[in-house]
Amino acid sequence: MAGVLDLFRLDGKVAVVTGASSGLGAGFAVALAEAGADVVLGARRADRLDKVSADVVGTGQRALPVVTDVSDPAQCTALVDKAMTHFGKVDVLINNAGVGYALPALKEHPDVFRHIMDVNLHGAYWMAQACARVMQPGSSIVNVSSVLGLVKTFAPQAAYAASKAGLIGLTRDLSQQWAGRRGIRVNAVAPGYFATEMTADIPENMLTNILRSSPLGRVGEQRELDAAIIFLASPASSYITGSTLAVDGGMSGH
Ligand code: NAP
Repeated sequence: MAGVLDLFRLDGKVAVVTGASSGLGAGFAVALAEAGADVVLGARRADRLDKVSADVVGTGQRALPVVTDVSDPAQCTALVDKAMTHFGKVDVLINNAGVGYALPALKEHPDVFRHIMDVNLHGAYWMAQACARVMQPGSSIVNVSSVLGLVKTFAPQAAYAASKAGLIGLTRDLSQQWAGRRGIRVNAVAPGYFATEMTADIPENMLTNILRSSPLGRVGEQRELDAAIIFLASPASSYITGSTLAVDGGMSGH
């Protein structure tokens, strides 16, 4: 009988990670490779994708960088087509691409609101559709939501909070639609605060407030989120679907 740690392995699997050019997504790509998966990396910045792809190859796995804007459904389909041509299958999708701005609601232009929804929510849906069309039973989709999809925001971030709450609803619905004959599990993670390009401009006093509201009282480490991603992507979570796992130092109380 396989040992329990073997359930976390992804040997022979192919994982797609969007937003893999920086921050959390770059870390997920390498973590999935460490767990044994070949990785397809999607984002807009080609040079950054190449760098992260080299890190994936450094683990001994194969990497396929595909320049992709997830807000365009045709580009999402093209990424999956390339993955199928190159690797012949897709077993895991990590819907991680995201943007976030803080803007008072009465000053937010419709184009900004639409852009955030287009990337964070619509993009995740286009990617899930494109992958689910080719995924075999046993596959797993993990949507990267946010603690701000679960609880009130610390800054004026209506679009971001709505997009991330929307991702949790999307997770619930797709998990029901695709659990049966398709055998695809769909879950989400809701990260708290992690130091990346996205959070680099958060003012010091706001960060202090965020950390005060977190029982563990510190920022999260990439590896702490990697572990949650590997858990939800792998057979270790084979009886879990439709769930949102908060990785937020206790901030949301979920
Ligand atoms: P980041 O370093 O800014 O990464 C964002 C990634 O999304 C980049 O790789 C970016 O790549 C990609 N992206 C943006 N627009 C895209 C588009 N239209 N098409 C394809 N890719 C696009 O920030 P991060 O913190 O790692 O964020 C990763 C995810 O975690 C996001 O969904 C974010 O909302 C979520 N999250 C982060 C935190 C945190 O504390 N850091 C907390 C909760 C949730 P390109 O610019 O190359 O396209």
